[in-house]
Amino acid sequence: AGELARVTCTVAAEPIAKEEMAKEVPKEIFLKDYEKPDYYFETVHLNFALGEEHTIVHSNISVVSHPEGGANAPLKLDGVDVKLRSLKVNGEDVKDGGYSLSAKQLILHRPPSTPFKLEITTEIEPQNNTTLEGLYKSTGNFCTQCEAEGFRRITFYQDRPDVMAKFTTRIEADKSLYPVLLSNGNLIEQGDLSEGRHYALWEDPFKKPCYLFALVAGQLASRDDEFTTCSGRKVSLRIWTPAQDIPKTVHAMYSLKAAMKWDEEVFGREYDLDLFNIVAVPDFNMGAMENKSLNIFNSRLVLASPETASDADYAAILGVIGHEYFHNWTGNRVTCRDWFQLSLKEGLTVFRDQEFSSDMGSRAVKRIADVVRLRISQFPQDAGPMSHPVRPHSYIKMDNFYTVTVYEKGAEVVRMYQTLLSKKGFRKGMDLYFERHDSQAVTCDDFYAAMRDANTANLANFGLWYSQSGTPILTIYTSYDASAHTFQLKCRQEIPPTAGQPTKEPMLIPLAIGLLGSKGQDLPLTSVYDGASLKSLKDDCGNGVTTVVLRVEKAEQEFIFTDILERPVPSLLRGFSAPVRLVSDVADEDLLFLLAHDSDEFNRWEAGQTIGRKLILSLVSALQQGKELFINKDFVNGLRSTLCNSSLDKEFIAKAITLPAESELMDLMEVADPDAVHTARRFVVKQIASSLRQEFLDAVNTNRSNEVYEFNHESMARRALKNVSLGYLASLNEPETIQLALNEYNTATNMTEQIAALAAIAQNPGELRTEVLSKFYEQWQKDSLVTNKWLALQALSDIPGNVKNVEALLDHPAFDMKNPNKVYSLVGGFCGSAVNFHAKDGLGYRFLGDMVLKLDKINPQVASRMVSAFSKWKKFDLHRQELAKWIHMGR
Ligand code: ZN
Repeated sequence: AGELARVTCTVAAEPIAKEEMAKEVPKEIFLKDYEKPDYYFETVHLNFALGEEHTIVHSNISVVSHPEGGANAPLKLDGVDVKLRSLKVNGEDVKDGGYSLSAKQLILHRPPSTPFKLEITTEIEPQNNTTLEGLYKSTGNFCTQCEAEGFRRITFYQDRPDVMAKFTTRIEADKSLYPVLLSNGNLIEQGDLSEGRHYALWEDPFKKPCYLFALVAGQLASRDDEFTTCSGRKVSLRIWTPAQDIPKTVHAMYSLKAAMKWDEEVFGREYDLDLFNIVAVPDFNMGAMENKSLNIFNSRLVLASPETASDADYAAILGVIGHEYFHNWTGNRVTCRDWFQLSLKEGLTVFRDQEFSSDMGSRAVKRIADVVRLRISQFPQDAGPMSHPVRPHSYIKMDNFYTVTVYEKGAEVVRMYQTLLSKKGFRKGMDLYFERHDSQAVTCDDFYAAMRDANTANLANFGLWYSQSGTPILTIYTSYDASAHTFQLKCRQEIPPTAGQPTKEPMLIPLAIGLLGSKGQDLPLTSVYDGASLKSLKDDCGNGVTTVVLRVEKAEQEFIFTDILERPVPSLLRGFSAPVRLVSDVADEDLLFLLAHDSDEFNRWEAGQTIGRKLILSLVSALQQGKELFINKDFVNGLRSTLCNSSLDKEFIAKAITLPAESELMDLMEVADPDAVHTARRFVVKQIASSLRQEFLDAVNTNRSNEVYEFNHESMARRALKNVSLGYLASLNEPETIQLALNEYNTATNMTEQIAALAAIAQNPGELRTEVLSKFYEQWQKDSLVTNKWLALQALSDIPGNVKNVEALLDHPAFDMKNPNKVYSLVGGFCGSAVNFHAKDGLGYRFLGDMVLKLDKINPQVASRMVSAFSKWKKFDLHRQELAKWIHMGR
């Protein structure tokens, strides 16, 4: 990814030989080159002497050889930014020629016969570690982040997930500065030492890869609770934060207990230790980390109060607390053989957290939100230079592969197993997977085999979903034969060429489909001819069905439904049964019919989105040709009926009346035109707002939350509908609607409504906007998580020339370059504004270029996440491509 994405060269404490320096060129690592390690580690005893100047880490490892491994092969240990203090084998110092040391490796040339004891002492400086990988300090406390390859920044180790060992961890530190000392497993001993120091000894009975190691030391308080497992064991639950934040951990604790119960009920998975800790830290690169029994979280995904966190934050906390907890089985008990298999744990665990959130709230709304995310982020990634399969074939820096493809597309792949095998069959597959692989490090193929074997299923070319990149295009033509009473579908699948993959094979695509009759009812589906045979359609209990899952396996395939007595309106790809781009000949009037009647809520929403996409894209070309813009009245009327339909869930309505995002629209264009997309979309927003003005006013007035804030679906749904309506109204920039928004702002009693009212007002440049923004800052300046919202809201703004405001905010006390959340809010937020980031004067690109160069010196992971905004550059016109290239190549 060019000059900007380069990774900071890691410097070893010892002088490095010239030949070694030459090896520093980034190396591409290939899945096909995987080899088992020659040595395994059985037990690891770690001792940390935490200090202000340096921290001394002593590790004592029992080394055994791999049954088929080469005897006396050199033992290669990874290590980055660690100073070697001593190295012993079986109690004896290793002589100078017995080992070699480079910037990234310690090699023991001739290890003795196994088993043997390896003792290593290293010195590190966590207080100067700004990468937030390995052991580092966040607001005075010590904490760790070892996935993917952070453990090598703590001590020399075989830092790879297929090396699983039992860890004990002894921590010693100053007692007044670091009263709380935590690590994985059970606390088995603690006590005082001389000079005001103390220690704690932790033992983790489960073997694990080092990426799941964790240590926390500092001044923390805890919220304590208890969970009784299905077999009657009591588990202590503790959520650790600075004392003043403890009141904000109620929702996190609720989420944890709900997750523990859900995993028992849905997957039969019980927690396996007597203690579960969560620690919230303000400086964290990602969302959270599933370290065994000691999860560490970005504080934004733990802390919430009605006044400071929005409904979206509450939902994110529920989902991520669930996600990390679920990793205990999918990730920790069964882990990955190598990092190419990352989706084995992440895709599966995202799927599990999606299902958890669905069961806790509205399934349709959750599905819609997840599909929107896929379309906004993953589809563009899969169509650009960063396109890679769910299981990548190679990588240079693993940290850059924590992508929406591995996570979200990976979750879609797992979901497709369930769609193909049914919920019951999927559960059987999961049970077999755990039965076969508990305490092993395995691959995506092992997961596939468990699903296949438990169901004796034919999953023929389904495995290609792991190895082929690119979003398949599924084209469907339909026709009805009134005399034969048959309904025919002609399907074609095509996977576009992607980076490194010019040609593709057809894959098994589950296509869920239903047919609607003229009254909007689901027609019974009795039998279907799938090109090979006529199959009669019944569910497991022998009852008739109205939705079937067709197996689209070939490049071209035909299906014929029989006994269809009237011309149906097809509801294709129900529930978004596969992560594809659907192209079909379903006419606009049929889409409007689906919007009004489909029993599949996802497709009901999708019908509206499809019309919306078509409409806005046609306006974009009208704009490009200098033509006048018109709105499709039927579409507006369809939205009106949805908005006024009191039988619908209000959160669903809020989603259904929200137009496709600018990034989704740009992704659908041959050459993305951010200005035209923005103008066209804004035009439609305002047209809808003025046509449905009264309906929106009613929605705002009848959905205010007067009562105390509650995190439940009903009240969240009311707030969602009210907030979307307010946004439409304020877009009109009329005195009356602006006054309404201001009123909502002033009377808001929770962050969900306060920030929505602020966003509504902030659409329109002017004095009021400035005034309310500074009022908001004044109120919340002491709450860093809230000021992040304030930064993001301004950064995302589409008001012309906004890059200047964003640059000014870099010097604002609310910003801090070393805190990833601040960078994601301000810099990341800015890249989310298509008009300003892609501004034709190039100032947006220049801003990001400057930021990335600065960030890379502090925290390469954060820099590389930010630079990815450039990865869509080929989507744009030549002028913008030239600008981006010029900035990107380092000028
Ligand atoms: Zn995860």
